[in-house]
Amino acid sequence: MYGKKNKPDLPLDCEEGGRGLQEYLDGTLDKPESLRFFLHLRECTDCQGEHDRLQGLFRMLESLPDHEVPADFDRAVLDSVPYAAYQAMEPLRRDRVPVYLEEAFLPRFVRARLTRLVGFGIAAVAAALALRGDGSALLPVLIVTGLLPEVVVRLQGLGRRALETTRRAES
Ligand SMILES: [Zn+2]
Repeated sequence: MYGKKNKPDLPLDCEEGGRGLQEYLDGTLDKPESLRFFLHLRECTDCQGEHDRLQGLFRMLESLPDHEVPADFDRAVLDSVPYAAYQAMEPLRRDRVPVYLEEAFLPRFVRARLTRLVGFGIAAVAAALALRGDGSALLPVLIVTGLLPEVVVRLQGLGRRALETTRRAES
């Protein structure tokens, strides 16, 4: 907004005048700033015109009557919504599962039994090596990565079951 890079001792130029005019009209400028505007406006017909235009606009806005929202506004909006149609779709909404809980959300190879078994095997071997004191930094990575497909599939199943349970409790 205006006021970031004002130059208090210099006369106002038109560019600065244009940027700060609204604040000048609002009366939010400090005294010296306001005086600079006043002096510039007295001499510059361009800015004077812009000033008058803005002032006219502000006056017009202030003179607009306040419109009250009708008391029955909410009722009218609610009545215009086809509530019966909304209710009829209830079963459809109920059976829907968030997309990340759909089995198809996971790539087929992650869901594949073989992937999960091989992953398990890798994790088991890595865990055994780690327990024997092999210090390779790769082992924790192998354990986590190996277990990942199984964990993800299981979490997804848990999520789906939790959702079903909640829904059964609600109905
Ligand atoms: Zn000017």
